[in-house]
Amino acid sequence: MKTAIVTGGAGFIGSHLVDRLVQEGFHVVVLDNLATGSWDNLSQHTKDTVTCIEADVSESWPEGALPPKCELIFHLASPASPVHYRRLAVETLMVNSMGTKHALDAALRYGARFVLASTSEAYGDPAVSPQPESYWGHVNPVGPRSCYDESKRFAEALTMEYVRKYHLDARILRFFNCYGPRMQSEDGRVVPNFVRQALLGKPLTVYGSGQQTRSFCYVSDEVDGIWRAAVTDGLAGEVMNIGNPEERTILNFAEVVAEVAGIPLKVEPRPLPPDDPTNRCPDISKARQLLGWEPRVSLKDGLEETFRYFRSAEHR
Ligand code: NAD
Ligand code: UDP
Repeated sequence: MKTAIVTGGAGFIGSHLVDRLVQEGFHVVVLDNLATGSWDNLSQHTKDTVTCIEADVSESWPEGALPPKCELIFHLASPASPVHYRRLAVETLMVNSMGTKHALDAALRYGARFVLASTSEAYGDPAVSPQPESYWGHVNPVGPRSCYDESKRFAEALTMEYVRKYHLDARILRFFNCYGPRMQSEDGRVVPNFVRQALLGKPLTVYGSGQQTRSFCYVSDEVDGIWRAAVTDGLAGEVMNIGNPEERTILNFAEVVAEVAGIPLKVEPRPLPPDDPTNRCPDISKARQLLGWEPRVSLKDGLEETFRYFRSAEHR
């Protein structure tokens, strides 16, 4: 049986990735400090297929507890919601710097392939749209989001040096806004906020004019992209956007959420957070070409699934 290590595997995307890896026949070892995740997200698995280790990957890895061999390492550990990474700013910088170094060193020791979860935030507030991987970005290095976007850029730079210097078989994936079941209801991101507010019959809190854009990728599509990037040969040093190219304004997103919830749209305007990017849309030509991948789940279908999850009382 092949073994994969997933840092951050108790989180939203990580736990769906673990599901997919198990389905593909892997034994999965999850390293997570539960800063923003929960073992409940993995409760569907048994110890035979998934080993859960509570560890802060910014610290040295728990050597004795690690598997003797490993073919794939996915580094997903990092707070991802703006509310969480503001609260955990230094921890975010550390997990994307030291945490990435520890994960890269482990990949070298095992001779494993490495997949870095980076982000569209690497483009900052982009001056081009849609954003191709060749765009270098427009990032405030000292703003309130920099703990996240600059540390992800550092993680990318470090990963590329391991490719150049040690010939590590690593690839970098820039995820755009991803959503679906197992998002934390209180993490402050627009999807759980709007879905929870719609379920409670409250107005949807739209920040700023609502004219800023995002592109929402359902989690099963996202995980399929991650899986394909992990198992496709010849991608060392490649950077790929993984996201849904259907761009919409936040106000339009609120309309779709209300429509799926079957309620009239009520909006509560709130101030726009500082440095909130004005637009976000992936150019996925590269992933289409190299991975034969593109998203399949429509926003309405994805939101139906997300509502189903949040409707069950324990997740409200
Ligand atoms: P999440 O918060 O649900 O999951 C992150 C996981 O990492 C959590 O389980 C958390 O406990 C764990 N973690 C954090 N710091 C850790 C540490 N020091 N040691 C061990 N574990 C630690 O977030 P998510 O939305 O699932 O995001 C997963 C990855 O994808 C992150 O790297 C994030 O930056 C990236 N990403 C996500 C999105 C998105 O839309 N969800 C977009 C771009 C990039
Ligand atoms: N947003 C909003 N209302 C909310 C939460 C977020 O209008 O209740 C906006 C936010 O200002 C941003 C977009 O929705 O423009 C996406 O925010 P999120 O925190 O989900 O992710 P981001 O893409 O900013 O990392």
